[in-house]
Amino acid sequence: MPKTELRCPICGQAMYGNWAEWPEFPFCSRRCRQIDLGRWLGEAYRIPVSRDELDPDHDADAPSESV
Ligand SMILES: [Zn+2]
Repeated sequence: MPKTELRCPICGQAMYGNWAEWPEFPFCSRRCRQIDLGRWLGEAYRIPVSRDELDPDHDADAPSESV
């Protein structure tokens, strides 16, 4: 069993022992989980999504038949 020192990505608290002992893993507590969720949603709202870059047919009409 690998002994790895895990730390809460939010508050940096060291999380020792079995993962099963941390029900909010990878966060040390429900509070840190909520903070992370809030940050994630904040990022999502802040970043503008350009649908043009998601167009899969962008290269579809490239000339590939050159006989
Ligand atoms: Zn934490």
